[in-house]
Amino acid sequence: MSNKYKIYGLDLDGSGRCRHYHSEQDIVALACAQCQQYFACYSCHDALRDHQFVPTDQGNSAILCGNCYHVMDFEAYSQNACPVCHHEFNPRCELHHDIYFK
Ligand SMILES: [Zn+2]
Ligand SMILES: [Zn+2]
Ligand SMILES: [Zn+2]
Repeated sequence: MSNKYKIYGLDLDGSGRCRHYHSEQDIVALACAQCQQYFACYSCHDALRDHQFVPTDQGNSAILCGNCYHVMDFEAYSQNACPVCHHEFNPRCELHHDIYFK
């Protein structure tokens, strides 16, 4: 397990869950195209930065698994589980795809 990536957010636990999204499956962090940093969710980003979350291209490695710190693109993420540690992702995140991706 590598910690070369850092997840930003409010009230984070060790696996990328935050004040806003903290179910067992809420472990992914997503990168803002402007600040190029990984956030537990867009609400965390908007609270910590002076701009709104900027969506990124689906081909970018913009998704970080908070369980094993594997970085993946949208296609890998949309399998709904981490390809490395096989931890499930929250399928309801689909509701927010327009915020995170172009
Ligand atoms: Zn940003
Ligand atoms: Zn949050
Ligand atoms: Zn993982």
